[in-house]
Amino acid sequence: MKCRICGKNAQVHLRQHNLALCRDHFVERFEREVERAIRRHRMFDRNTPVLVAVSGGKDSLAAMRVLHRLGYNVSGLYIHLGIHEGVGYSDLSLQKVKKFQETHGLPVHILHLEQTFGYTIPALVHRRRQQVPCSQCGTVKRYWMNRYAVEHGFPVVVTGHNLDDEVATLLANNLRWDTGYLARQAPFLPSTHPRMAAKAKPFVYLSEKETALYALFQGIDYVRMECPFAEGAKSIFYKELLNRLEERSPGTKLRYYREFLRFREEVLSSHTHPGVELRTCTVCGMPTTLEVCAYCRLTSRVGTQV
Ligand code: SF4
Ligand SMILES: [Zn+2]
Ligand SMILES: [Zn+2]
Repeated sequence: MKCRICGKNAQVHLRQHNLALCRDHFVERFEREVERAIRRHRMFDRNTPVLVAVSGGKDSLAAMRVLHRLGYNVSGLYIHLGIHEGVGYSDLSLQKVKKFQETHGLPVHILHLEQTFGYTIPALVHRRRQQVPCSQCGTVKRYWMNRYAVEHGFPVVVTGHNLDDEVATLLANNLRWDTGYLARQAPFLPSTHPRMAAKAKPFVYLSEKETALYALFQGIDYVRMECPFAEGAKSIFYKELLNRLEERSPGTKLRYYREFLRFREEVLSSHTHPGVELRTCTVCGMPTTLEVCAYCRLTSRVGTQV
């Protein structure tokens, strides 16, 4: 197969676009698509300091790399969650992040939950006798990404969610017809409170395979191991189902997502702020819909200080 642009040997075939590309033209197209998503959804400009939520995985490290190459003002935040579970997952992820920082010369701030606040994600859950900590882990990560951004002068938090992540979430939200979640599932959510950063996802039109290839071609060494708690997660099952649909009909995921965005714009936009007033948490001062925010309620049960 030949590259459609230059006719050299193609190294990538994007079935959803019926497009074969050499390495250089793949990278060029990838970066153009990221730039296009940023502009289309008016996410941020080159003067805005943006904070990337870095996990040590391919998507978040690729996000830092591509934004830097495109000339954006980018920093990362890695949250060490204290997930060891016999495989040293958090320590291994941190090693990859540090290696990335040294190799690519980009700043990544590190927030170590155990060293700073004295708790780990498994310990939070253990005390509550639950098996899988993902919902608490999500609360903690969202809280600290936002708070760190607000307190360190980053108006925008970027995450590396790709098309596969977005359609898996969309399917889950669709199956429940959860209009609140559907309305908030957007490539860009502007800030609605003085202590809330905007949230941007510049990879939403790019598949997991594309971000993996970009990371490979950019020489990014990332953690390949899944978090031990991810096993059996519903989102993985939904991704498998969507992969089978995509296999039978290439382009399904992108169509599903694009049509959703159109529907969201036309029908759901009035649900974006469905009358829920944001208040200020009486414990920590961060935005919340209740008197005390979800993070403070969660950590107060295990006697942790904010
Ligand atoms: S899989 Fe669950 S526990 Fe592991 S990092 Fe993700 S949200 Fe946290
Ligand atoms: Zn080419
Ligand atoms: Zn709070």
